[in-house]
Amino acid sequence: MTDAAPPGRLPLDGRFHIDDTCIDCHLCRDLAPDNFESDDENEIHYVCKQPEDESELEGVLDAYESCPSNSIRYLRISTEE
Ligand code: SF4
Repeated sequence: MTDAAPPGRLPLDGRFHIDDTCIDCHLCRDLAPDNFESDDENEIHYVCKQPEDESELEGVLDAYESCPSNSIRYLRISTEE
């Protein structure tokens, strides 16, 4: 897998995740509560569900673009051998 800009369509060939630079600001969960969850014990957030439709993708992309620490990452899964 490689880092890549998220596509402007459903990310069927990739996955979002949050790296270890998350500062636990809660913004992503506010923008996409079905897709981001808080890990209170470790004071971070994580992706609890990949976006499954356009509405969820819109919220996840809003979070991706708004995260103050650029902690939300998109990994494209390469199908090339
Ligand atoms: S918006 Fe970014 S910094 Fe804030 S909780 Fe989500 S991943 Fe962490």
